[in-house]
Amino acid sequence: MEKEIVLQSTITCPNCGHEKEETMPTDACQYFYECESCKQVLKAKDGDCCVYCSYGTVACPPIQDGGKSSCCS
Ligand SMILES: [Zn+2]
Repeated sequence: MEKEIVLQSTITCPNCGHEKEETMPTDACQYFYECESCKQVLKAKDGDCCVYCSYGTVACPPIQDGGKSSCCS
């Protein structure tokens, strides 16, 4: 069964609450993300592989695809 991978994720900045929809890369994980509103650089939380898993609405594509616990290992 084909799973549909969602590439759009809305990141919510924990510092200022700014929300921004971003397109996630499918072949890499993004560990840092700069909020365009307050310029705070977000880092993935401990145990999360990327900022989308920590602050986004959708888990990153490698996790959606394979049920892996991390996209970077
Ligand atoms: Zn912010």
